[in-house]
Amino acid sequence: MGKVYLVGAGPGAPDLLTLRASEILKRADIVFHDALVHPRTLGLAARAQKIAVGKRSGRHSTAQKFINKRLVDAARIYKVVVRLKGGDPTLFGRVQEEIDALRRAQINFEIVPGVTAATAAAAELGVSLTRRGMSRSVTLVTPRSAKGERENDWAASVLAADTAVIYMGAGLAEAISAELIRRGRSKDTPLALVESASLPERCVFHGTLADLPRLARLAGAGPATVLLGEVLKAAIAKPSAAAIEEIEALLRQA
Ligand code: SAH
Repeated sequence: MGKVYLVGAGPGAPDLLTLRASEILKRADIVFHDALVHPRTLGLAARAQKIAVGKRSGRHSTAQKFINKRLVDAARIYKVVVRLKGGDPTLFGRVQEEIDALRRAQINFEIVPGVTAATAAAAELGVSLTRRGMSRSVTLVTPRSAKGERENDWAASVLAADTAVIYMGAGLAEAISAELIRRGRSKDTPLALVESASLPERCVFHGTLADLPRLARLAGAGPATVLLGEVLKAAIAKPSAAAIEEIEALLRQA
């Protein structure tokens, strides 16, 4: 019987992978990976068979039950089986379903943590998610629920936290902004939307809670995370001197 490693691939940049993950990938016989894992990260698994089972919301993906079964089957054939997931495997990655299936089949497993989107986004913004005297709590939340799943009150946890990081929320920007404002969060709460954190195509949008729908429309098709709270004020980018000069020149021409 082999062992299944549930490995975090990090937010995108291949050098944000842990050394432990890298060592395991080198030894892997087979790798089941998410859609957004960087080709260079997959390249580390030089001798492994690589199977894409990933999903981007809205697009076709391998059913979770089928992934669970394939992990169990693979562990009966191979020694080192890797399930490679974006970010950290224990956040919004359905890893518990995989763990439960492995446990039922009495297959040995190990979780290897990864850099999650929240901290990769904070790094892009150059801000701290917690801050002395301002933010002592951070909530990681998603408003997205699967069909047939029990609704959860995601807004309540955003309202209760000093800083909120919203995963899988860009497509629900209107609803997020409207619901939080309706329930009493100031429309001027500083907010940032970070797309493709850690990757060369990264994009950062700054604004307030009221601006979120507009910012989401400006964003592209990459994975995006929304950060909200007073700490984000420190992230609000000031235009560069060159940009100000350019604007002034345009105004003079007009
Ligand atoms: N397990 C992952 C999250 C999976 S859910 C983690 O720990 O990061 C997928 C969501 O993660 C996306 O919709 C987006 O909100 C966020 N995300 C993943 N990669 C990202 C990136 N490079 N930049 C910004 N957000 C990202």
